[in-house]
Amino acid sequence: MVFRPFLRHFRVAALGLLMPAVLASGGQLSPLAPKPDWTALDAYQKTITRQEFTRLINDVYTPDGAFWDFAKIDDTKMTVYSDMAKTEPLFTLQFAASEATEAPLPYAYKTKAISTDPDKPLKGIKIALDPGHIGGDWAQLEARYFKMGNDPSVEEAKLNMITCELLAERLKADGADIIWAKRGYEPVTHLRPDDLHREAIASLALHPDTTKRISDEVAIQGMINNEAALLFYRVAEIRARADVVNKQHPDLTICVHYNADDWGDDPTHPVLTEHSRLIIFVNGCYEKKAELTYDDYKYDLLRKLLDRTAVHEERGCALVGQEMLDTLKYPAETYPSIPGIHLKDSPSIHHVTDVPSVYARDLMANRLYHGPVIYCEGPYMNARDGYYRIIAGDYLGTRTIQGEDVPSIYRQYADSVEQGVLKYFGVK
Ligand SMILES: [Zn+2]
Repeated sequence: MVFRPFLRHFRVAALGLLMPAVLASGGQLSPLAPKPDWTALDAYQKTITRQEFTRLINDVYTPDGAFWDFAKIDDTKMTVYSDMAKTEPLFTLQFAASEATEAPLPYAYKTKAISTDPDKPLKGIKIALDPGHIGGDWAQLEARYFKMGNDPSVEEAKLNMITCELLAERLKADGADIIWAKRGYEPVTHLRPDDLHREAIASLALHPDTTKRISDEVAIQGMINNEAALLFYRVAEIRARADVVNKQHPDLTICVHYNADDWGDDPTHPVLTEHSRLIIFVNGCYEKKAELTYDDYKYDLLRKLLDRTAVHEERGCALVGQEMLDTLKYPAETYPSIPGIHLKDSPSIHHVTDVPSVYARDLMANRLYHGPVIYCEGPYMNARDGYYRIIAGDYLGTRTIQGEDVPSIYRQYADSVEQGVLKYFGVK
């Protein structure tokens, strides 16, 4: 399941009174974000033309034109500003005069197999695997857990880990080096919710919709505790994983998740829905209000764009996405049916490529991991056509589930991603 941390609207004017200083007009950072080192983008001077830069902004990163509220452009350069009045410049990018005169990129991610060994076609390729969520002692806090009657519990982190272990086995057999963003069921971040109360107060004060005064201290403390927990497992954890992965420069990063429809508030009586659908995400579609007001988001967007990962992510997501549709045989998500997403809340998601399950969406993981990222969502955990296969666990061969002989859903997921990855590197 994917997160959208900044869509929640808190009504916490009282918290605004506690933290008046954080609501400065420019230079805002999102919760737990380090101050961007804009000089690091100097390595990308003259690596892109104005035409290609503009195409990527308009087609991939802000199709609604939101980026231009914070930027000025002419034929030789683009300057990005902290504020919409464009008075606080952050960084100026010089353009290459033509494609032929583009300076080389500071780092080249391999997008084609280089192996000469037919038994190890991915030799020399580094692939990072990111099994989504923490799980274990934290599964219930993350709300990625439910259990129906005497059935085995369903914990998304576990499903993701089983799938990633199977995928790692296959990719290693193909010769790839595997980097783990996280393994097992302990957090990668050293922070815990109790360490994050100050940051939680600052984060709550950042929410724009702070209209209703809350005077009940117990309610405020509950809200702070809740926010601290969210910052722990949604933000600190993914930032820590990105630190681990980015140091090792993988050629490709694969995030593995299982999706779900809303199962209600009671994890002991989850609502089952009828049908699973599949979706896979490329990074893009940043939101003006919720994301681009933060300077760290502007930095991350530019870094992604300048690394020129968009074309590879689209190709990779289309290849893996098609394999998942063909192998798992669930239909693709259609826009209005994406769980938790309603058109009025989130205009910033759109379909890309000619594979129906590929959508552009800005998620923390596909934004913070450097290089191309393929962000997979597997079948719904709480759909009748996925649930019984999920609680059957992993097994060899086939089993009869709901009257059909089917292989392990985990193996099908891992197999389809492996096949897509091989195609991505030009092997099959
Ligand atoms: Zn998930």
